[in-house]
Amino acid sequence: MPACSFDPLRHLTDIMDQKTERQHKTDTRVVHTGRTPRDFHGVVNTPVYHASTFIFETVDELLETRRDRASGAYVGFTYGREGTPTTRALEDAMTELEGGYRAVVTSCGLGAIAASLMAFLSAGDHLLIVDSLYGPARAFCEETLRKFGVDIEYFDPQIGAGIEALFRPNTRVVYLESPCSLTFEVCDVPAIAKACRARDIVSVMDNTWASPIGFRPLRHGIDVSLHAATKYISGHSDLMLGIAVTTEEVFVRLKQTASGAGYCGGPDDVYMALRGLRTLPIRMERHQRSALKVAQWLQQRPEVDSVMYPALPDDPGHAIWKRDFEAASGLFGLVLKPCSDAQFAAMLDHMTLFQMGYSWGGYESLVVPTYPGTLRTARPWASDGRGLRLHVGLEDVDDLIDDLERGFQRLAAAA
Ligand SMILES: *Cc1c(COP(=O)(O)O)cnc(C)c1O
Repeated sequence: MPACSFDPLRHLTDIMDQKTERQHKTDTRVVHTGRTPRDFHGVVNTPVYHASTFIFETVDELLETRRDRASGAYVGFTYGREGTPTTRALEDAMTELEGGYRAVVTSCGLGAIAASLMAFLSAGDHLLIVDSLYGPARAFCEETLRKFGVDIEYFDPQIGAGIEALFRPNTRVVYLESPCSLTFEVCDVPAIAKACRARDIVSVMDNTWASPIGFRPLRHGIDVSLHAATKYISGHSDLMLGIAVTTEEVFVRLKQTASGAGYCGGPDDVYMALRGLRTLPIRMERHQRSALKVAQWLQQRPEVDSVMYPALPDDPGHAIWKRDFEAASGLFGLVLKPCSDAQFAAMLDHMTLFQMGYSWGGYESLVVPTYPGTLRTARPWASDGRGLRLHVGLEDVDDLIDDLERGFQRLAAAA
């Protein structure tokens, strides 16, 4: 039986060798990536390492393990905050799936966002950020980055190559999310990334919605692809974790910022996220299939004004989504025709399968009221109907439609 001989340097080389030769499809790679049983007594899953402290035998070993002298990258294990073999297993798996150089695990998705922005911005820099982004990320920009002297400008999600007109000599970072939170506009990622590359501007994308199964930002020219692993990657609504996958050029800067600001993942959460990742492709397939059916059903309902889901053939973002994405997910938005507070509550207060709660990406369905108009400035929100965000889970889709249908009956009866 092999001894426990996990060597972080060798592990990195293994991953890179596989990259040059691999022919396997994504579903196969999800099963085999980020684990090396021979290094851990043959156990299938990389074990959970509970560790703050790593012991060194010699001064030489202690100094050598800290940083690779040439690249400045952390190569060994030195201290729990920098990661353990469990952390590295998840980072390596996500790196391989998204075609990056390396990845950084953070305590939650917002931590990955904050670290990615702080890594590349200084006082006096200009940040371009998509208008309809995740609300708490917008709050971080307004409440924290502004305080440190970063100049923030929001852009229309549909700007595409037109982003160039907004570039200034001090523009350092372009941040986007696609599809956007709540309103699900699809950005022309390749066009935006290309404009950034031409000007050495770092592009950062929140890829939580699609997961690595639906979209691989680095293949489209993005420098940092980040995820709330809290959502689809873990998939079971029971942990908080973030992860950012990067190109070689920006990795060290991002890793130093994330560790330096104190972002790291807890051992059990990291383990469970990696466990969740193993079933991501089959979960995503089901989420997408059911969400499309629910979205199409909603489009026929008299109570519904519009449905915002790029997988729908008549969605304004459909053409770009189809060109760039490999799959959709189970999360989408809708706007109801105007109704009263009492009607809205009658529908939502008694849902049985679509339970009300923030977050999404778990196996279960969720619904939450949305107020897109309050969170945007570059592209005003015209609708006066109430917004809803649905997460279509893994339940039987006809049961889910039935739950919504009974909700609409209550809404009508409360008129
Ligand atoms: C939830 C979410 C985040 C934040 O992740 P946390 O793990 O909750 O901090 C970031 N981006 C998007 C799009 C999200 O939905």
